[in-house]
Amino acid sequence: MYNQKKTLYTEDGDILNEKHRNLTLKGTTANKGIAFGKISFLKRVASEFDKVKIRSINAECERFEKARQHAITQLSALYEASLEKLGEQNAVLFQIHQMMLDDPDYVSSINEVIRKEKANAEYAVHKVALRFEKQFLEMDNDYMRGRASDVIDISRRINEILMMHAGKIKSKGISFESDGPVILATDDLAPSETVQLDQHTVTGIITTKGSDRSHTAIFARTMGIPTVVCIGSKLTKRYEGKFAIIDANTGTVYIDPDEETILKFNEIKKTDDAQHSHLEEFRGVPTKTRSGRKIRLYANSGSLSDIDLVKASDAEGIGLFRSEYIYLQSKDYPTEDEQFEIYKEVLKGMGDKKVIIRTLDIGADKTAEYFMLKPEDNPAMGLRAIRLCLSNRALFKTQLRALYRASVYGNLSIMVPMITSVEEVTETKKIIEAVKKELTEQHLEFKDEVEFGIMIETPAAALISDELAPYVDFFSIGTNDLTQFTLAADRQNADLVKYLNPYHHSVVRLIEMTIQNGHAAGIWVGICGELASDEHFLGKLIQLGIDEMSVVPSSVLTLRAKIASLG
Ligand code: PEP
Ligand code: MG
Repeated sequence: MYNQKKTLYTEDGDILNEKHRNLTLKGTTANKGIAFGKISFLKRVASEFDKVKIRSINAECERFEKARQHAITQLSALYEASLEKLGEQNAVLFQIHQMMLDDPDYVSSINEVIRKEKANAEYAVHKVALRFEKQFLEMDNDYMRGRASDVIDISRRINEILMMHAGKIKSKGISFESDGPVILATDDLAPSETVQLDQHTVTGIITTKGSDRSHTAIFARTMGIPTVVCIGSKLTKRYEGKFAIIDANTGTVYIDPDEETILKFNEIKKTDDAQHSHLEEFRGVPTKTRSGRKIRLYANSGSLSDIDLVKASDAEGIGLFRSEYIYLQSKDYPTEDEQFEIYKEVLKGMGDKKVIIRTLDIGADKTAEYFMLKPEDNPAMGLRAIRLCLSNRALFKTQLRALYRASVYGNLSIMVPMITSVEEVTETKKIIEAVKKELTEQHLEFKDEVEFGIMIETPAAALISDELAPYVDFFSIGTNDLTQFTLAADRQNADLVKYLNPYHHSVVRLIEMTIQNGHAAGIWVGICGELASDEHFLGKLIQLGIDEMSVVPSSVLTLRAKIASLG
């Protein structure tokens, strides 16, 4: 340890706070909360696979095929076993894993490595897994990056089976030391590993890699385990067995904390727990202010698999269903029937609660190869969202047909992103009329009256919200894009965070203008950008007269409690 100015560093360059003697590691919060326990590194039966020359290519391909089939059978059992623990919408991931194991690209890539390199199946599986993982991690959107852990998960499963079949290991699975509460540490935790954890033993999870959008993060949230991901290489095995505190509210891990820190977090945890049980009082009750003004409190959702999370959050509906994830998860344009099935499931899953599905918002940070979008200098201001839909009507019509056909299964509203003009709205409405006419002619069932709204997420839309209001049933303010466009600060650029200030008076004035213009025209106005989940802005939003808020599921009860305390 050496001294550099006032800060103490360990040999490895970690900061050691002289006063408190706490080593702190920083990461990204995947699930909030405080946890205490001994750090225990996850042990897997094997993680590296040496290349071994094989004699018979065909026999090796057969070995792989046998293990792959075995893995599919295991996943089917795991799906059944997870239904109760995680709910159907989360357990469905293990059906998706079965489908991934059937992916022709994945299977043929492994067979190709076996053939070309005359290599053992374990090595081929591992090599292909790393290649697919890299491809997912390089993708532009968080959701697809989150899939990287899935491909590692299924590949690890096959390799364990291959080793069991070869008699090299007796049983599959994970293990870790535990003689009390455990903070489980690992590079990344696969969803199928997360589901095996017992929340009573594993009080917290810390990982070097991972994303807060991954299914592991979703499962950790569902299981209520405080989790910090993406800590980086500073989380090393030398911390094995050390007592630690996770403050997942700030994404901090304290290793070997001193008395003072332990006492402080004991107090914080007590307050957190008390607040948590206090929040449960707000489950199942209407969202209203002290004076009795009702606010509709909905949740944002990215995919069918989020529905259980939304339901568990006690949200009164879905205020933003980002339909583009369906496109981002597909290898080609999703067909009308494929989309119909998904919308139908979402609507059925939510019963009579409102589900606002946003039409395709592809472009900018969200792209899929098969769209073959031309490279643009400024993709955020390029041919995206409604612009793309209006320039490719077949694409738009396919989605609208699927949405209208699904409308009979629940309480659907349709919302269009990135509007900048009245013409875009009237054009969209004409296409909707054409779709309804076609469906009628084809004797396909749909609801005639589906609520239709637009996102106000460009300064242009906010400024002409008085002109737009007569054409729609509602506005939903998208503060993420509204902030980036108003302040000319790219939301993807980490260096511009200080400029991306949603509290900037310019943004707040546009929000106010939108609410006033909407109300003057007799329509309701909601908000679905991240600012809606910000407790510090809540008072202002209520004061401005917001009617509906769509927030991250984990914030629903907190916001409902806070709203109840406001005028
Ligand atoms: C927004 O821009 O505020 C919004 C909700 O849409 P997205 O974040 O999906 O662009
Ligand atoms: Mg947006």
